[in-house]
Amino acid sequence: MNEYRIETKCVQGGYTPGNGEPRQIPIYQSTTFKYDTSEHMGQLFDLEASGYFYSRLQNPTCDLVAAKIAALEGGTAAMLTSSGQAANFYAVFNVANCGDHVVASSTIYGGTFNLFSVTMKKMGIDFTFVAPDCTEEELAAAFKPNTKAVFGETIANPALSVLDIERFANAAHAHGVPLIIDNTFATPINCRPIEWGADIVTHSTTKYMDGHGAAVGGCIVDSGNFDWLAHADKFPGLCTPDDSYHGITYAEKFGQGGAFITKATAQLMRDFGSTQSPQSAFLLNLGLESLHVRIPRHCENGLAVAKYLKNHDLISYVIYPGLEGDKYYETAKKYLPNGSCGVVSFGIKGGRKAAEAFMGHLKTAAIETHVADARTCCLHPASSTHRQMTDAELQAAGVPADMVRLSCGLENAQDLIDDIAQALEAIR
Ligand code: PLP
Repeated sequence: MNEYRIETKCVQGGYTPGNGEPRQIPIYQSTTFKYDTSEHMGQLFDLEASGYFYSRLQNPTCDLVAAKIAALEGGTAAMLTSSGQAANFYAVFNVANCGDHVVASSTIYGGTFNLFSVTMKKMGIDFTFVAPDCTEEELAAAFKPNTKAVFGETIANPALSVLDIERFANAAHAHGVPLIIDNTFATPINCRPIEWGADIVTHSTTKYMDGHGAAVGGCIVDSGNFDWLAHADKFPGLCTPDDSYHGITYAEKFGQGGAFITKATAQLMRDFGSTQSPQSAFLLNLGLESLHVRIPRHCENGLAVAKYLKNHDLISYVIYPGLEGDKYYETAKKYLPNGSCGVVSFGIKGGRKAAEAFMGHLKTAAIETHVADARTCCLHPASSTHRQMTDAELQAAGVPADMVRLSCGLENAQDLIDDIAQALEAIR
């Protein structure tokens, strides 16, 4: 399957039925799996044999879908999680523990920012946030002797900054740590961060991958490129025996291509249990089958709306990486040559109040805490997803209080523009 192009991987990746087997991925709606002997079961628990025993850890439906996403991203292994939040938490916590430090881009999604700066901080993990377009000196200064990872989003939600992945990967590798990239908005159709040096890729599959607002989910993909054993002093969790798993050393037993995901499954999924249901994985796979067809249309609609807004007298600014003149247009040309995403962020003259009034007049676009759906939706981040932030933090995160985030769906672009036009006239 790896020799196929990305469109074929979307449709057929992860699952090749044998003679007389179901054409569609079967839903293994079972919590557990039957064995003939306790001895066989014991081998599974020791990770000496591969197989399924309890769906909190692994389930065949979820594994088939994870394998498809691994193929799409060009990774060696992947795991599904119950949400994007769980994916980002596991990806970081798999390498950084109490007393460790992580460098992260300051414009990451508000939920991830809160996870890092509040919840994981309580767990004793320290984060330094740097602007995605910080100088080389600022980036280098963010690292500490206990830094264990660098984290960023390909296209930040909703700031829409585009990360210079290669630059961040080089900085991470110069300090002997992996780069973790949340590729939710770009999807592997528009950017495959591993090709630019990222070591671990995460997704909120809730967004474009599902694409129909049907199932919350997440995914972590390992590139298999990071040499944990070469930095064994930094990553004892991967490079020294795990007493809770009969003394297994993940990096030795599962190699560079399998250690990260095996550890995340055997330790984190076992203990935290943020697993994706087989039913949700099935729905996710339906979304993945058309991802390569849907993404270009989202981008087309996003660009058409961004161009319209740019010329409107009631709009103070438009942020869309695919729009000529955008701060990240050149970076987007490098990392996202085929398009960025369907999300457009913009400010309405009159600030916070005008933004809220405008949204109240929209008819086609619905007000939702969601993006990347087939149906167009919009949100005022300052009063919803980012409401825990101060005005200064909002500004630093690239989400000023007057910003509206519009996620262009798959409708006719002119219908979306007509809707925006009438809502703007209504508040004039
Ligand atoms: N990462 C990004 C870029 C997101 O946009 C989101 C949610 O909007 C998440 C992670 C969290 O994902 P979930 O809502 O599936 O937990």
